Amino acid sequence: MSKLTFRILQFAPLASVLFLTQPPVVGAAPLDDVLAATEEQSPVDIRPDNTYFGRLSPLQFSLSSNTALSVVNTGSPDHESAIKANILPRAGSVTVDGTTYDLAQFHFHTPSEHLENSKATPLELHMVFADATDNLLVVGRWINQGSFNSALDPIFSDLPLATETHQVSDFNLNLLLPDNLQSFRYSGSLTTPPFTEGVTWVNLAQPLEMAASQIQAYRDLFPEGNTRPVQPLGDQNILTDVPGFVINVPEPQTYAMLLAGLGLLGFMSRRSRQA
Ligand SMILES: [Zn+2]
Repeated sequence: MSKLTFRILQFAPLASVLFLTQPPVVGAAPLDDVLAATEEQSPVDIRPDNTYFGRLSPLQFSLSSNTALSVVNTGSPDHESAIKANILPRAGSVTVDGTTYDLAQFHFHTPSEHLENSKATPLELHMVFADATDNLLVVGRWINQGSFNSALDPIFSDLPLATETHQVSDFNLNLLLPDNLQSFRYSGSLTTPPFTEGVTWVNLAQPLEMAASQIQAYRDLFPEGNTRPVQPLGDQNILTDVPGFVINVPEPQTYAMLLAGLGLLGFMSRRSRQA
């Protein structure tokens, strides 16, 4: 079975339980374009017109409120490096759909890698989790300029210079998360080489805030940024449980066309790959 067909068949049962509010993007594009875009790369531009609204599985975080961090500068100003906080084993995890992923590290990009409605924010936080068989789940969070962030101050008040490592003795990982865990989710990739796919992305909708001085401290290390440009959506479907983000109201025939379109696309994909 082709990867595209498999993805579509995977999504088809899910589609039936979603409150779909848009005609499918795949149905709107010429079939050749759809078949060509079978990659699942990150980051992406998350917009009302490419996102589906529906119920998403709960995220159950278990994070230490006082853990040590090893904060390393992996090679600024190189754009593929970052300030990365390595976590002690068993200091944090997230369980979703019955699978538990352990937190390995978190790091930052400037400007944000993911766009929300085609707009970047000054920074983006990535919390990288891995399950027992090294499947990755990344929790992303946009960071806006706003009030001073005292939770992140132990890191940002003393950012390590290139290849340096600083120790932070007492960090509350819970302060990285918002109260409201509504999110955008899709299947993507690492945003640095080797751009491995199969990464589950959970982009939290509620942004963090940091003071302009804190953001500037990070930018000083990466004056040209450390961000991969947005990638075209392949056969990914972005799902969200954020009310009101997906603005258009569905028509019953749109919903029927999506299901029919998915079936048709799967059939044609199989045919074309046999030819
Ligand atoms: Zn990242």
